[in-house]
Amino acid sequence: MLDGRTKEFLQEALDGDRLITFLVGAGTSADSGIPTFRGKEGFWTIGSKNATPQSMGTKKMFDVNADEVWRWFLYRISICEQAKPNLGHIALSSIEKRLGARFALISQNVDGLHFRPESLINNLYLIHGDLRYMRCADECSKALYAIPLFFREQIRSRETPLTFDEKQKLICPKCGEMTRPHVLWFDEYYNEKYYHLDTTLRIAKSTGLMIVVGTSGATNLPQRLVERTLSRNGKVIDVNPETNIISDKLRGLVHGHYLQGKSTEALQALEEYLGERG
Ligand SMILES: [Zn+2]
Repeated sequence: MLDGRTKEFLQEALDGDRLITFLVGAGTSADSGIPTFRGKEGFWTIGSKNATPQSMGTKKMFDVNADEVWRWFLYRISICEQAKPNLGHIALSSIEKRLGARFALISQNVDGLHFRPESLINNLYLIHGDLRYMRCADECSKALYAIPLFFREQIRSRETPLTFDEKQKLICPKCGEMTRPHVLWFDEYYNEKYYHLDTTLRIAKSTGLMIVVGTSGATNLPQRLVERTLSRNGKVIDVNPETNIISDKLRGLVHGHYLQGKSTEALQALEEYLGERG
């Protein structure tokens, strides 16, 4: 499924000495059955009202209704914990083994699937956080606490209530305030402390080839990472079933290319090609 231009970009990158960076989004986890939670699957009912993901996943909502926000996140955590890495995740892990120190993965996915034994990534930057962790909502420290196993092993539905005892497990061990999920909310900004803003921009600067897979590019950091790579003479390939903001940006550029295709198939084809060449 790789076209001539993709192979040309890959070969040039392999011949060079700069980073080969993958930037992945929700599309790479779709084959594991994880919905984006930005669309219909993310809608949540509070009382008789429907709340959109864009209103549920906010600091503003958490401040007025922490219980409902936690209930929504615990439901999502339960779906992610039950999911299994797909062949695309596994291909990424093999690509890292082939490329070694020249590989970096920047992921928008919060589902934890890059941490399973069969799909483990070492040089990984999560720019939207990690659902396996929580942190103090009052920011008494920047410590991350693992979501208690109790919740990760639980199968929760949209109707599962949050009991008083469960709520006690979500309290900051340091100051006794509520914790919050360790994810970037819609009304918050990227930063280095939690989301590796400066580090990933630096990685983009050292990237000879960035391969963007399965993201619509709707958030601002992925777009900046692409721009930064291009500005330092790096090349960018955008892989997606449909054109998007990133492929639009790449259109007509000598250093840009759009490859139409699905995440899992594309990642497997890339792994195979790198295996033949590397
Ligand atoms: Zn605290």
